[in-house]
Amino acid sequence: MSTIAGTAGGPRDLTALRDAIRSGAISARASVDAYLARAAAHGELNAYHETFADEARAAADAADDAIRRGSHAGPLAGVPIAVKDNIATRAGHTTCSSRMLGNYRSPFESTASARLLDAGAIVLGKTNLDEFAMGSSSERCAWGVIRNPWDRSRVPGGSSGGSAAAVAAGLCAAALGSDTGGSIRQPAALCGIVGLKPTYGRISRWGLVAFGSSLDQIGPLALSVRDAALLYETMAGHDPHDSTCSDRPVERVSESIDESPRLRVGIPRQYRAGNAPAVDAAVERAADCFRRSGATIVDVDLPLTDLGISTYYVIAPAEASSNLARYDGIRYGHRAAGADLFEIYARSRAEGFGEEVQRRIMLGTWVLSAGYHDAYYVRALKVRRRITMEFDAAFASCDVLLGPTTPTPAFPIGGRTDPLSMYMCDVYTVNTNIAGICGMSLPAGTDASEGTALPIGIQLQAQAFAEPTLLRAARILERDGGCSAALAPQCA
Ligand code: GLN
Repeated sequence: MSTIAGTAGGPRDLTALRDAIRSGAISARASVDAYLARAAAHGELNAYHETFADEARAAADAADDAIRRGSHAGPLAGVPIAVKDNIATRAGHTTCSSRMLGNYRSPFESTASARLLDAGAIVLGKTNLDEFAMGSSSERCAWGVIRNPWDRSRVPGGSSGGSAAAVAAGLCAAALGSDTGGSIRQPAALCGIVGLKPTYGRISRWGLVAFGSSLDQIGPLALSVRDAALLYETMAGHDPHDSTCSDRPVERVSESIDESPRLRVGIPRQYRAGNAPAVDAAVERAADCFRRSGATIVDVDLPLTDLGISTYYVIAPAEASSNLARYDGIRYGHRAAGADLFEIYARSRAEGFGEEVQRRIMLGTWVLSAGYHDAYYVRALKVRRRITMEFDAAFASCDVLLGPTTPTPAFPIGGRTDPLSMYMCDVYTVNTNIAGICGMSLPAGTDASEGTALPIGIQLQAQAFAEPTLLRAARILERDGGCSAALAPQCA
């Protein structure tokens, strides 16, 4: 029997693996060994920066022991997961895939990963990303490009490309990512798995290395909707270490995921422009599935959709330029030699940061500079407010919004060299972060128009703190054929 979730003969998903471990049908140790072996065999994907084999095996033995003794096992006891390398863990390094933090070891554990560890999860290792989570292709990782398990000549999406590739290839049962403008949902779509970006303030950002602090959220990449729900509810909830983290109670939704609410599903007109035909067809299939389930489909107008990219690429770099100022080679980060303090700063930052990170810092510094602050930054904040109001108005007439996650499936590595064409990958995802609402990508079949079958993702969005509705709506699609089961794992 396979001990890897999602493989033929193995448990269907992380939840099923958890149940099998809990009942003693599969030992946590056997499962951890199998995942580690598979991760080692698929180094070509470059999904992991580092694995923690010894610690993971010891944790698995301890979990098996506890289960054998019948002592209380947590809801994730013995389940092997991976963590994006911009999320602080006590084990190993936390590098953000940047030379700037190449040797950095965190003295503390992020709240999100700590809650998973407390629930019994086993962290197998840290996954690669676009440096400091800036990118949509995972080509800008200082430790080399990450490959899509479906077609190794293509990108896995980004910036949580290592996490998505690891889940899709069966190198872990689920993974944590971060999403500032699409970095969980877009790679989930391109790798054929489930990705959830929770509401801003739902999961603590404590220990998530800051990129755009008003946009960043941690969330799960997983094999099924119930797995995403289980991980989400384990991590969510108040944390005194993050003042933006909400103290609203967290509804446990994983066990009632099949309760189907009567939904009003909005399809924004603006989400139908310029997509690959297979992407539009996937959205249609999902809409049909909702109709069959008794949902009402409503047309929605979100005229500001197109302003999302320009708004995001002012606000996110502005916040990044401020957040990344701390990496000066003195207080934090890679230190270069220099004759005086200024030269140390300049050289350390030139050597430590890659090209895209430097571009964002310059862009952000520019839009915040005295002469341009009102023209760019303040204006972007005004548009942000209007985008948020537009979503509020849309959610008066519907419970969830349905559309594509990305306009196209995965593109070839090296295929998008112009930064703007890369930024356009996020056209359907950034507004979720701008408005602070929640959104989720679901696998929705494949597009074979370029020869190889490549996964397609569809996106659902819901109001702030409406994760239970979002997840139950996603479950309707998953159960009733409106999307595909996660198409993992892709490595034999
Ligand atoms: N692709 C977007 C960017 O480059 C979003 C990244 C993210 O969500 N971390 O900024």
